Amino acid sequence: MLMTQLQSWADPSLFVKEIHVEESCLDLPYTREILARARLPYTVVPDYQDLEAVPGYYPDNLTAGKQHLLLCRNRGHFFKPCPATREYRCCEYHVLNIGMNCPMDCAYCILQAYLNKPWLTFFVNIDDLITEMTSAFMAAPDRFFRIGTGEFTDSLALDRLTCLSRTLVTFMAGQQQGVLELKTKSAVVHNLEGLEHKGRTVVAWSLNSTPIMVREEIRAATLDQRLAAARQCAQWGYKLAFHFDPIIEHPGWQQGYEETINRLFDEVPAESIVWISMGALRYLPALKNIGTGRFPKSRIYSQEFIEGLDGKSRYFRPHRVELYKHVYDLLKNRAHARTCIYFCMESDEIWQEVMGYTPGERGGIPQMLDRTIQG
Ligand code: SF4
Repeated sequence: MLMTQLQSWADPSLFVKEIHVEESCLDLPYTREILARARLPYTVVPDYQDLEAVPGYYPDNLTAGKQHLLLCRNRGHFFKPCPATREYRCCEYHVLNIGMNCPMDCAYCILQAYLNKPWLTFFVNIDDLITEMTSAFMAAPDRFFRIGTGEFTDSLALDRLTCLSRTLVTFMAGQQQGVLELKTKSAVVHNLEGLEHKGRTVVAWSLNSTPIMVREEIRAATLDQRLAAARQCAQWGYKLAFHFDPIIEHPGWQQGYEETINRLFDEVPAESIVWISMGALRYLPALKNIGTGRFPKSRIYSQEFIEGLDGKSRYFRPHRVELYKHVYDLLKNRAHARTCIYFCMESDEIWQEVMGYTPGERGGIPQMLDRTIQG
């Protein structure tokens, strides 16, 4: 091991200290269930109002805000296409918006720049969520949907309190038209036990080199905990996925990624893994000030970056290729032949240089991923 992980948070929901409920949601049975399960103090707040319990200004109050969970109604859409950019190859994912913000705290988390409220939000009108998904499936009967809940939050970080995974996995088991990916850095998988998932849910973990996980991913599960949770899910028959994103250059990065990848394939059956993505660190310019201000010891923003076609800062292309080639070779060496290894938001040139082909030659990224599920 490169270094010992001193503290671990297998269940980051333990960071939440207080719950707040929008007045109009208080009598929903689901709200009542969550309050009973959480056994935390709660207050009732008027609809649409900021939480007075979290004083100060964003993002200075973000750490304190993550101890407060607001249960409220989603008044917008739950289900929509992932907002990818035109300039890079994307995987045509659909996003299921279950809430905002996350009790973990990663130095590179894009949400720091994207959100403007410090507290955690979870939407309790899940009947509307199920209705919306059902309508979307019916409106496009020939389409296959890959769906993720982890765009504005972590898929399982609050699952001990919400148990939402059980509703979603059970709903997806009845759908022929899609697969749900629950993506996490926690080890909260107990709710997935004993469900008739019918292969319609993939459980996924973001992984990194150990020094990055220890220093830059605050209150996330350790590598051991993530891999033990993954192995457990494989035993329950779930398909798995892993995301090496963001890949970050740091002293000893070659050895760091090699150790993590070896541990992954030593602990988890390769044939359970449907896909593995790679993405080098990239961020909106606005994130740099927030990230360096909140994480003054972090060195991830102090390297050289260029502005990519999507306006995000990225490593220079030869530098990205070097990182990717190393990680890809390690993955390819041990991955099952059916596992799809792909880039999140990279150009055809990078695909060609690293993998020796472009997605178009294999039907495109969405088709490559869909094939791993549909066989
Ligand atoms: S786990 Fe994901 S959502 Fe949570 S802070 Fe880290 S990057 Fe952000």
